[in-house]
Amino acid sequence: MTKLSLKERMLIGRHPMGAQAPDDRIQNFAEVNLGYSAQIAVEEAQRCLECKDAPCSQSCPVNVKIPQFITRIVAGDNLGAVDTILEDNLLPAICGRVCPQENLCESQCVLGKKGKPVAIGNLERYAADTTLDLRSKREELVKAEPSGKKVALIGSGPASLACAGDLARMGHDVTVYEALHAFGGVLIYGIPEFRLPKSIVSYEINSLKRVGVKFEKNIIIGKTLTINELMKEQGVDAIFIGAGAGLPNFLGIPGEELIGIYSANELLTRVNLMKAYQAESVTPVLDFHGKTIAVFGGGNTAMDSARTALRLGAAKVYIIYRRTADEMPARREEVIHAEEEGIEFVFLAAPLEFSGDEKGWLKSVRLQCMELGEPDAGGRRRPVPIEGSEYSLDIDMAVIAIGNGANPLLRDSPGLKFTKRYTLEVNPETLETTSKGIFAGGDIVTGGATVISAMGAGRKAAQSIDHYLNSLQ
Ligand code: FAD
Repeated sequence: MTKLSLKERMLIGRHPMGAQAPDDRIQNFAEVNLGYSAQIAVEEAQRCLECKDAPCSQSCPVNVKIPQFITRIVAGDNLGAVDTILEDNLLPAICGRVCPQENLCESQCVLGKKGKPVAIGNLERYAADTTLDLRSKREELVKAEPSGKKVALIGSGPASLACAGDLARMGHDVTVYEALHAFGGVLIYGIPEFRLPKSIVSYEINSLKRVGVKFEKNIIIGKTLTINELMKEQGVDAIFIGAGAGLPNFLGIPGEELIGIYSANELLTRVNLMKAYQAESVTPVLDFHGKTIAVFGGGNTAMDSARTALRLGAAKVYIIYRRTADEMPARREEVIHAEEEGIEFVFLAAPLEFSGDEKGWLKSVRLQCMELGEPDAGGRRRPVPIEGSEYSLDIDMAVIAIGNGANPLLRDSPGLKFTKRYTLEVNPETLETTSKGIFAGGDIVTGGATVISAMGAGRKAAQSIDHYLNSLQ
């Protein structure tokens, strides 16, 4: 293919990804986005200016070689493209779908200064999706000679998956222990099928199995097995804790105990992991049909909960957020998709109290209007209540999606030190905890963050663990 001049590349507009029509997709749980065709992918890839200093790669937490993989797509070499990504990111089909690219790689794309950035996430997804068959027919990663060292990983979210992949590649004997009955952490129990198909997560877990990573489910470290037992009885030489932030926060307002109020975690877990969306499912989930639902929060979890409620038959879904659209932490695409699906956003409003009927069922929420004040420590403008602005909204159900705290199950483990927010204390250079040979990364250290940052931490910890294991005789 003849190479386009700089000017020609800059004349090509960004290609949107095809999606199921809003009216259709709210009737099903199938993936909303449909992916690029080969022709569209190559046209989009041709927009890349191949910047030498690659600001896009620099702003990726795992420094994927973005211009290099995009160049392979232009050449029609999708396997070469995915192999380039895999050098830095083990989960391209997942990250292509869920990374907040607008805040990371795409935010630094030079084309974005005057127009729209290259659709890097869409191209990553294209390279990954079109090579799934080819990849499954070959040895996924080059494995070193067995080191004779055993590593246990606690939790099977992206932090542990990335860590396990690297450690296996280094030749260590790696076992991932998961409390739930399915592997993938939030990727499987939190993010809905319509955004990240379970088959994609299973594919990546199977890729790790093929390079020798062992997976044990239904084992709660700290309960079923303690860290001490792992070390002493199972002969484990090092541990990685990737236990995530799965403890839901609540509003702490009167009436929160009424029937019909869910934490987002409970709703999404029932629907995702226990398949409550399937007609033949026996998983108990309250009946959403024809109901009015209020979801509280402005992050990905709020968007996922609202869109799930809609697909479960809700007649009306509100997202109620105490700041404005500009401060919402959710991925932009999810906000746009939620709006297209008919979800109504109520900004600058905070809940004061829930009210119910004599049988304890939720009936309404009293809201207070807010205005934005000075920025808080995180730089976002603080919501300030407007006196006398309270009003009541009739609702049948509510979902609380205001963030999660660190998983609490390991809090009693001797030697580990936790912060006031119950996240784990680690050495920022090595990710080693206060206990020798025990490392940690992902949401259990940072609090709720992103898939790619958890993976970056997992990879960093793998380097430190390898170094530690090599130092043992
Ligand atoms: P997790 O993914 O939370 O995995 C931790 C695992 O450890 C869990 O499976 C848990 O069961 C297990 N575990 C906990 N304690 C134990 C124990 N004692 N023994 C054994 N196993 C244990 N990020 C994005 O980048 N893009 C998105 O679009 C996005 N959407 C999201 C949507 C939702 C609904 C939620 C909740 C989060 C979303 N995030 C998103 C955030 C992202 O998923 C997390 O930052 C990321 O999954 C953290 O990875 P982790 O490996 O640290 O932990």
